Amino acid sequence: MRSIAVVGASLAGLHAARALRDQGFGGTLTIIGAEPHRPYDRPPLSKEFLAGRIGQDDLALEPEGEDLDAEWLLGVPATGLDTGRDGHRDKHSVLLADGTRVSADGVVIATGAAAATLPGNAASGGTAGVHTLRSVDDALALRAELLPGRRLVVIGAGFIGAEVASTARELGLDVTIVETAPAPFARALGPEMGAVLGSMHEDRGVRVLCGSAVQALIGTGPDGGRVDGVLLGDGRRLPADVVLVGIGARPAVGWLEGSGVALGEGPARDGVPADGVLCDAGGATNVPGVVAVGDCAAWFDPSLGRHHRVEHWTGAVQRPTAAAATLLSGGTAATPPPAPPYLWSDQYGMRIQFAGHTRPGDTVTVEQGDVAERSFLAVYRREDRPVAVLGVDQVRQFTRWRRTLSTVSTG
Ligand code: FAD
Repeated sequence: MRSIAVVGASLAGLHAARALRDQGFGGTLTIIGAEPHRPYDRPPLSKEFLAGRIGQDDLALEPEGEDLDAEWLLGVPATGLDTGRDGHRDKHSVLLADGTRVSADGVVIATGAAAATLPGNAASGGTAGVHTLRSVDDALALRAELLPGRRLVVIGAGFIGAEVASTARELGLDVTIVETAPAPFARALGPEMGAVLGSMHEDRGVRVLCGSAVQALIGTGPDGGRVDGVLLGDGRRLPADVVLVGIGARPAVGWLEGSGVALGEGPARDGVPADGVLCDAGGATNVPGVVAVGDCAAWFDPSLGRHHRVEHWTGAVQRPTAAAATLLSGGTAATPPPAPPYLWSDQYGMRIQFAGHTRPGDTVTVEQGDVAERSFLAVYRREDRPVAVLGVDQVRQFTRWRRTLSTVSTG
């Protein structure tokens, strides 16, 4: 393999490029990114960066002096992938928005995910004061609006919404979280622990309204102008100066449509297919010479017996090593068993950690600490087998349990 194009110049793309060089790839490496920025870290965007405690330079993912001997094409999104016709294994071509194309023997798809928007509202591009949070530019726009005394409504009680709520309280805003599900974080943590985490927000004076669907955003002025409030399905009207739409992310794979690369068949939302790039357990797609990593990729997980897309930092850092080996070996590299997915979140100075897979019907018990003290470790079990673990300010115990999970199947 003499040339490789990495599409997506962020966490997973950078780690893929590093892994390729580390594994001996000496050919032409081109890294293509839609954003004009060099790779930067996203977790601080809802935490220290949003709070103003660190600046944009602190987000850089590349240490000074790192040289991957790559050509960087930044600020130019890929618009298509031509994988060669009639099954010929000619070079692939990545088509770019400026009309040029990059030909390469191998392609790494690392285009991540885009924040979901409410139907009919193009997030920050629509009504003023309405934001989503995915990029540093989103964070700068949101940060400028988080002024003390303002009323922030966060739509969606997921991790990013919860972190923004926490940061906004720190900055002196009045905060309400609205969630359609009966409990916050219910999809990720189940209703019981979701309710516990929700109550940690209530401790800090945040209103948490669960089971409440948003019907519409209310704006001032003829075209929506600036947001003024949020109308709930039950007729309640929440006054708002700023709204964060934190209802999840969709894999950024629209540019692959028609390429022949197999995509998951989840229903499309906001024009973006709801699943991701289907990969085997080593990151290979159905197209030879094309692998996918990071938030856009749904790798096959043998322990679950299905494809599984993970939107966490650790997966975007770890999986590129296996994907690079897959690409350079033509798919013959041995694939290590996947570690259970892991995420962390920082809220109100507390470190929240979760690893594993939980689903309705799992039991959950607090094994360490005390929920009332806001420092505890809870273990999820299925037929007496631990399948997931949640820690709140229990870093040491959490690490021990996370290791235990890695040794048992979590399917
Ligand atoms: P991304 O970081 O999304 O990067 C994809 C890149 O591809 C982007 O730069 C995008 O512009 C580019 N791109 C998209 N389409 C194209 C195209 N057509 N052509 C070229 N380039 C394209 N995870 C945790 O585990 N813990 C946390 O506390 C945590 N906090 C987070 C807070 C925020 C605000 C956000 C947004 C995410 C957070 N995450 C957290 C998730 C973590 O940041 C992601 O899992 C990680 O960034 C995924 O890396 P990625 O490279 O796959 O995707």
